[in-house]
Amino acid sequence: METLPTARLLDGVSLARTLREKVRAQALEVGKRGSPPSLRVILVGEDPASVTYVSSKTRAAQEAGCLAETIRLPENAAPQRLLEEVERANRDRAVDGILVQLPLPPGYDARSVFDSIDPGKDVDGLHPENVGRLVQGRPRFVPCTAAGILALLDAYKIPIAGANAVVLGRSEIVGKPAAALLTSRNATVTVCHSKTQDLPATCRRADILVVAIGKPGFVTRDFVREGAAVVDVGINRLDTIEGAPAHLRQSARIAEAIARKGRALIGDVDFDGVCRVASWITPVPGGIGPLTIAMLLQNTVDAARRSADASALRSSGLT
Ligand code: NAP
Repeated sequence: METLPTARLLDGVSLARTLREKVRAQALEVGKRGSPPSLRVILVGEDPASVTYVSSKTRAAQEAGCLAETIRLPENAAPQRLLEEVERANRDRAVDGILVQLPLPPGYDARSVFDSIDPGKDVDGLHPENVGRLVQGRPRFVPCTAAGILALLDAYKIPIAGANAVVLGRSEIVGKPAAALLTSRNATVTVCHSKTQDLPATCRRADILVVAIGKPGFVTRDFVREGAAVVDVGINRLDTIEGAPAHLRQSARIAEAIARKGRALIGDVDFDGVCRVASWITPVPGGIGPLTIAMLLQNTVDAARRSADASALRSSGLT
């Protein structure tokens, strides 16, 4: 007989609510010193998921007492046009934080965009200077999703120091910074990717398994050691149950979401199977997604605070 689910949920929604309240108080303090923290988001093209994420981010920023605006460029804008828009935001003293929504349409070189953002306004933490600082263990801006993963593990007191952590996926925005943060917190970290041999066996070594590959339900219970904490970063949209990988088509949870909303958002982890072996698991939605936004707000407030400190120093004549 099938065992009952045992995993407890790592609830990103309630933690994000708490963090956003804290950010709101900080934004108010920064505002008293001049103007509220201000975020400029640059969106290229019309990708529906990106449009939704950008509007969630700007709305959340406004709710937290920040100023937020979105500059939209057409899908066919020349890459140089995007760089000019970034430069305009770099020079604008009223802008504290700059975020270029990813992924960029084909034809854009994301790295040249990362390089172009003023590192002091780089609230996505992707400028090489900020990446270098993170790897050296003296972070300034930590990429928001990776910061959210650590915040969630900490909130639930999942031990990190000495733990075996496996990060599945090595993207610049999630896998690599998550691995760097876990390393700086004294986990023993293995990073896996599309060329890794025998993924299930490697993942089974994990006390903490972080999954960010963009493949619905890819990580099944065979990948998970009993009692592990599983953080599912993936967000995959299914419009029909037939569109799901074969092993997920029996899922009543997914079928019910599609019937109710016309679509299901599912992670890279087969939740129904893995929650029977893991001790902790993030739901999708409601896990890392809300924390990514909360961390973006925190980075924006931090950027504004640093800028206010710098102008206070300038006007005191100490620099
Ligand atoms: P990405 O840039 O597409 O990179 C995917 C990574 O997964 C790569 O390192 C790739 O390996 C690896 N990979 C792909 N297929 C694999 C396979 N079959 N076996 C082993 N490794 C495989 O991914 P991303 O931007 O990090 O996004 C990953 C997922 O997280 C997506 O679903 C995305 O929507 C979601 N996401 C969520 C949030 C959030 O706030 N919750 C934020 C960002 C992203 P190689 O390097 O060898 O190609």
